[in-house]
Parts: sequence; structure tokens; C-alpha cells
Amino acid sequence: MKVKIDYDLCMGDRNCNKVCPDVFQYDEDQLLSTVLVDVVPAHLEDAVRKAARECAPGAIIVEE
Ligand code: SF4
Repeated sequence: MKVKIDYDLCMGDRNCNKVCPDVFQYDEDQLLSTVLVDVVPAHLEDAVRKAARECAPGAIIVEE
């Protein structure tokens, strides 16, 4: 699984970082979340799906 963030949509509410901090880091300077990994480790895939579901503007793009 791969994941990326659409920065035209991200509103920087930090929810993805709270749901899965091993994959989504919050950038305090830019007030946006960034993706820390190229490939999502298998044990974090469900957390990434949950973060994508909960991202209000739909900015998290998951490639299964
Ligand atoms: S949950 Fe979505 S809108 Fe919020 S910081 Fe993460 S990518 Fe951006």
C-alpha cells in the first residue's frame, strides 16, 4: 500500500497524525501533515485506511 496527501485539499486539522503517527507527521511550520513512508508497513494499513476515511476533505489518497 502507498499513501499520499493532496495538498490542495488538506486543511491541516492533524487528525491523520493522531490516528497513525507512524505514517503521518504533522508539520508545525506549514500546518499540514506529511507522509513519512514510501510503502505503508502491513501492520499500519488498517490505521491508514481509518485515517483516510476520517479525513474530512478527502485529502488522503490510498493506493492499495
Ligand atoms: S486528516 Fe486530512 S485534512 Fe487533516 S491533516 Fe490529515 S490529510 Fe490534512
